[in-house]
Amino acid sequence: MTAALLAVLLSAGSAQAAPNEATSAAPATATATVAPASPSKCDRGKFRMIIDVGHTAESYGAMSARNVPEFEFNLNLARRIEERLKADGFAEAAVMVTEGKARPSLMTRVARANRKGADLFLSIHHDSVPDIYNESWEFEGKKRHFNDLFGGYSVFVSQRNARYGESLRFAKLLGNQMADQQLNFARQYDLWFMGKYQRPLLDSDAGVYRYDELIVLKMTSMPAVLLESGSIINRDEELVMASDAHKNKVATAVTGAVSDYCETRGSAPPLMARPDSSPKTAKPARVAQPRAASAKKPASKPAPTRAAQKR
Ligand SMILES: [Zn+2]
Repeated sequence: MTAALLAVLLSAGSAQAAPNEATSAAPATATATVAPASPSKCDRGKFRMIIDVGHTAESYGAMSARNVPEFEFNLNLARRIEERLKADGFAEAAVMVTEGKARPSLMTRVARANRKGADLFLSIHHDSVPDIYNESWEFEGKKRHFNDLFGGYSVFVSQRNARYGESLRFAKLLGNQMADQQLNFARQYDLWFMGKYQRPLLDSDAGVYRYDELIVLKMTSMPAVLLESGSIINRDEELVMASDAHKNKVATAVTGAVSDYCETRGSAPPLMARPDSSPKTAKPARVAQPRAASAKKPASKPAPTRAAQKR
């Protein structure tokens, strides 16, 4: 498919790499806030948050338009988020870095998270495009790949997570906070031309998609969400992603969402989310979750290609 055709397929403006421009797709509406009058339910000092750095130094995920590995972007952003959370009183927020090859590293990080136990798991990533949408350019004397048509953040949840209801609740809070920072979400994931990368869009304000098969989401025992902060294969957006201003926006959004999430948890918050003791079946929130029409099984199960594994 040519870039020109793609440009037509994408609705005007919605997928441009212009994260600073608010469009009608990303209204700067205030997210749900909590009543400040009542005593806080949230003990920030005890809220255990895992900030998972997507990929490893060895198996780095996507490569940016200027040849910087995704892992570096993920690590830098995760550290910024941790700093901001700690500064806001979330003393137990901790970056998790995993080593090794891609597939074993996914199992390792899930095992570590489940053993540690946490109130919330957030995996940090930066986006790319399916290989067929790559174009070529030359940067610093070498041929590189780029795609300037796609951009924006996206938030993913898996319905197979044992705490899906809470995962979705945090995902929406996070997506709304990102929108409040004047960021646009990536519109393309629920469109047909994404093929096997097509995902059901669960919330068209917050930019939350369902991606059931992601290992770090489906096998973690605590509520888990994956954030693609933006596209690093997009030449303009890559520069934005590397900027302090953008990292600060995302750190602010995550901290706001974690605060809201912590404050609005149910009366019996799962402070000790251990795999063997959490009352998974007793969560009324789970039965009330929206299910996308195509919820059951995709017609063709995506083969575990490099791109599918990239998270
Ligand atoms: Zn990734």
